[in-house]
Amino acid sequence: MSICDELHEFLNTLHRFGFSFNEKQIPLNGIYILFEKGEISHNSDRIVRIGTHTGINQLIARLKQHYINENKDRSIFRKNIGRCILNKCNDPYLQTWNIDFTPKETRVKFKHLIDVNYQKSIERQISSHIRENFTFCILPIDNKEQRLDLESKIISTVSNCSECKPSQSWFGLYSPKDKIRSSGLWLVNKLDSTQLCKADLEHIKSIVDSSNGVPKCFN
Ligand SMILES: [Zn+2]
Repeated sequence: MSICDELHEFLNTLHRFGFSFNEKQIPLNGIYILFEKGEISHNSDRIVRIGTHTGINQLIARLKQHYINENKDRSIFRKNIGRCILNKCNDPYLQTWNIDFTPKETRVKFKHLIDVNYQKSIERQISSHIRENFTFCILPIDNKEQRLDLESKIISTVSNCSECKPSQSWFGLYSPKDKIRSSGLWLVNKLDSTQLCKADLEHIKSIVDSSNGVPKCFN
């Protein structure tokens, strides 16, 4: 059994959150692992994105940036889903979409390019798409270094696994980003760093009470 086999088997036993999720059930700190409708590997739901947060107690805020807050510049995941929506239709608005409007100078400089209503309609489509197609489980981890280390290792393990390939109808295949299309993950970074070892996997399992698949801090 490969590490990725075991990882999928274990993560597929954990409590699965969808939209809308109950904030009281979400730990304050941790790694979230996303699964997507129609995507299968290792005879289970295929991991399609792994993410975490850097700030203290920001896990819920991070999840809201993906599922709720309609601002592509605060969620690279939303931005990438939007890129696929636009690219699928060869929509020239993709060029404007790619601009990060967070810095004030950029907002001023490129203000004339923004079609506010159109952009809002894309954001709404993204929200619906994410809510309908993605579910997630959580590994509660308070220590930031540990979170970032395991996040990176899980990403590299899945991205280098020969069994974890996207389906032919995977939405990410519309991405203009080569790394998304080839990795089958909604990610472009940390795809080729250190992978999980057996001890890391045992550590991941020890984080969660596998008897009921619910993060320990729920209790
Ligand atoms: Zn795999």
